[in-house]
Amino acid sequence: PAPTLAQPCARRTTCPYCGVGCGVLATPDGIGGLTIKGDPDHPANFGRLCSKGSALGETVTTEDRLLYPVVAGARSGWDDALDLVVRKFQDMIAKHGPDSVAFYVSGQMLSEDYYVANKLMKGFIGSANIDTNSRLCMASTVAGHKRAFGTDTVPGQYTDLEQADLIVLTGSNLAWCHPVLYQRIVAAKKARPQMKVINIDPRRTATSDIADLHLSIRPGGDAALFNRLLVEIYAQGAIDADFIRDHVEGFDAALATAHRCDSAVTGLSEADLQAFCDLWITSHKVVTVFSQGVNQSSSGSDKVNAILNCHLATGRIGKPGCGPFSMTGQPNAMGGREVGGLANMLACHLDIENADHRSAVKTFWNAPAMPVEAGLKAVDMFRAVADGRIKAIWIICTNPVVSMPEADAVRTALEGCDFVVVSDMYGNTDTAKLADVILPATGWGEKDGTVTNSERCISRQRAILPPPGEARHDWDIIADVGRRMGWASAFDYQSPAEIFREYAALSGIAGQLGRDFDISAMQEISDSEYGDLAPLHWPQTAHRAGGRFFGDGRFFTPSGRGRMLPIQFRPPQSVPSADYPYVLNTGRVRDHWHTMTRTGTSARLSQHLAEPFIEIHPDDAADLGLAVADLAWIRSPHGHAILRVLITDRIGRGQAFAPMHWTSQYASRGQIDTLVSAHVDPVSGQPESKASVVRIEKYHAA
Ligand code: SF4
Repeated sequence: PAPTLAQPCARRTTCPYCGVGCGVLATPDGIGGLTIKGDPDHPANFGRLCSKGSALGETVTTEDRLLYPVVAGARSGWDDALDLVVRKFQDMIAKHGPDSVAFYVSGQMLSEDYYVANKLMKGFIGSANIDTNSRLCMASTVAGHKRAFGTDTVPGQYTDLEQADLIVLTGSNLAWCHPVLYQRIVAAKKARPQMKVINIDPRRTATSDIADLHLSIRPGGDAALFNRLLVEIYAQGAIDADFIRDHVEGFDAALATAHRCDSAVTGLSEADLQAFCDLWITSHKVVTVFSQGVNQSSSGSDKVNAILNCHLATGRIGKPGCGPFSMTGQPNAMGGREVGGLANMLACHLDIENADHRSAVKTFWNAPAMPVEAGLKAVDMFRAVADGRIKAIWIICTNPVVSMPEADAVRTALEGCDFVVVSDMYGNTDTAKLADVILPATGWGEKDGTVTNSERCISRQRAILPPPGEARHDWDIIADVGRRMGWASAFDYQSPAEIFREYAALSGIAGQLGRDFDISAMQEISDSEYGDLAPLHWPQTAHRAGGRFFGDGRFFTPSGRGRMLPIQFRPPQSVPSADYPYVLNTGRVRDHWHTMTRTGTSARLSQHLAEPFIEIHPDDAADLGLAVADLAWIRSPHGHAILRVLITDRIGRGQAFAPMHWTSQYASRGQIDTLVSAHVDPVSGQPESKASVVRIEKYHAA
């Protein structure tokens, strides 16, 4: 029922922050805000919420919201703004071809928004130049999954973590970055004290608190560690020979390469290496959880495959309590993968390089054009803006001037770009300030659609509050542009439910082509069924609803076997030197999200850590003449920042950690991604955000 001021009622929706995807009960408070509770019936959180989710009601303020379109700094009407966008994009395409334009989108978008953007760029403009900030989040996992499984498939689900005998958390500060899932593990460990947890992270973090073993691995050492594990699995006779014989290929080559890998590069003692291997091998049910510490690396895809190798070799995959498990950072990073929001994918896990897949999508969309090869991935996309190959870019729901590596170069690129469009809730982000056209978009609590969390659970975000001012939904803005570009029937959408049905129907074709992502059972759901849609895991077909993948030994590769890959250790690309002797790790803090456009509006969330900081080891602080709470210059080959010094032995010597959130709105020189090198993984294109090199010096005020 619709809420009324007299009788407000709670509506079910989904948290817009991390990839856990918690269900939220939001109730209008009668004065324009919301009161928030966890949804006890949502399978991700069963009523729990973390600090960020609990504070959502404080962030729905309309203060500072962009309420109308802005063109060249002045208020505009929607017709004039969209006509200008269409004219500029059409001019560029006519003069320079479809690859002269690009969309840069976001894992914050709902699947319906994402689907329409992808359809417009790939099927109608005819370029694959649509990429997403999820490239910075989980692209290495996508590449690793596709190489091993044939598809980008997360094999298991959250309940596996509660059933495991051993959980390995590698490159994941789950306690701060996915807090509700961490709470579930804490509760499961309390109920089953025999459960063990290993935490692999160069830093000791809040997540280490529940670890039976914490391994302070050297930054970048993960592939060598899992290669060592594969060697030990074989040496101890712990392979699942039947599973390998019937369902796996590449075992011998993977093992031979692992044998040649020197595990000393992990920086771990022999005792710790052996303890890790022994616990992994002797635990019957093992889940290896991995996240940005694995993905954000110039060898991220290889690290992922080194992990998958160990699970394939032991058959510990797709069974209760077993499997590799990637955690996505963003609320809809998974949905973006499903709708093909990456430059190297088509919708519904179809492959852009596959002629049959391209043809199926082209026919389904009745599309005039379809690119035959991948478009530019995020880092290359902004390089193409910088050198003039891309002349018009539309940035939707993200803030790359702050969040991209070598962020100052991204700023310079956008300053020099012929035409920049930004759709956002706010007109004052660092990126929006550089736009020729800013379009006001609705945000969480104001829009309807679906998101998919890290365990393949699709759940609804629901509109509870009215759009502020003239703000419109992203799918509606993008479809309007598509119609104005001349494709009226292809973009004649009236609702997100209609988009969802189309996308579900396309997934059925993908299923017939042997893809994993198939939700065709929902292609005819009514508007009211979509309105009431309860959380459900994909696949959803006439024959199958949810569950795990690969426990039956069937994979989506051409041979039907899971693929083990030979993985060679490659160190991070930035090498410490006399000029830049420290390795800089970046990441999240507990109470802020991305560039703080939403969490920065909550005083409660800002109390946790009020300003950006840099963690360094006490011995390094002594060498540098730095005391607690001093300010320090942090310089890299790409930029500089001034940060408060936090001295702690949670971090190793020669290393530093700084959070990624602060923007010029909140700290004039606290932006970290200005320092981060834009080295990327050659397979996934994901930047190496965990291992840049910096110099640290005491700051003296002039
Ligand atoms: Fe939101 Fe993630 Fe916290 Fe759940 S764990 S409430 S999805 S931020």
